[in-house]
Amino acid sequence: MDNINAFDGRPEKQAKWDSRYLGLAHYIAQWSKDPRAKVGAVLVNQRYARVVATGFNGFPSNVEDSAERLENKTRKLQMILHAEQNALLHAGRDARECDAYVVGKPVCNVCATLLIQSGVRRVVAAAPRANTNSYWDKVGLLAIDMLREAGVAFTPVTGDQLDALGLNRDEARASQDPLDPFREHQHEFKFGP
Ligand SMILES: [Zn+2]
Repeated sequence: MDNINAFDGRPEKQAKWDSRYLGLAHYIAQWSKDPRAKVGAVLVNQRYARVVATGFNGFPSNVEDSAERLENKTRKLQMILHAEQNALLHAGRDARECDAYVVGKPVCNVCATLLIQSGVRRVVAAAPRANTNSYWDKVGLLAIDMLREAGVAFTPVTGDQLDALGLNRDEARASQDPLDPFREHQHEFKFGP
């Protein structure tokens, strides 16, 4: 079987292309109408150096993304598709063996299950922070655990890469949404002491 990692032995080249695809994900994130969190995802087949699909967070097609709905944080989170989910749906079976680049939030637990089940082999995204009260950090840690267990590689976005994108390091990693609609279920995602 031939080697599907075109960057083996060439980490500098991989880092260069990682930064380019992260930049693309950041660009696409700006298309989101979500006023609080703009997230972009890019699926890349490295064997063919091909962008397979892109996605940003938003409501399903033909579901009105009115300002009223987008400003209602609980309702919004009940209706919105995450960037990774949109990219995976667009890619279909072509997601297999892709690398996923995500900018805007840590990968959540639901997206991790879908990335694993779609056959994605590597995820490049902001690492969640340990020991915070942020909902997205907590589910992000669960996501990392699942990716690791499933044998999906995870490459944290570096501070230098975020700087190059003009992103604030903390904002790029952390939730900008203080409301946790799933607060009553937080105990299920308890990490650390
Ligand atoms: Zn998600």
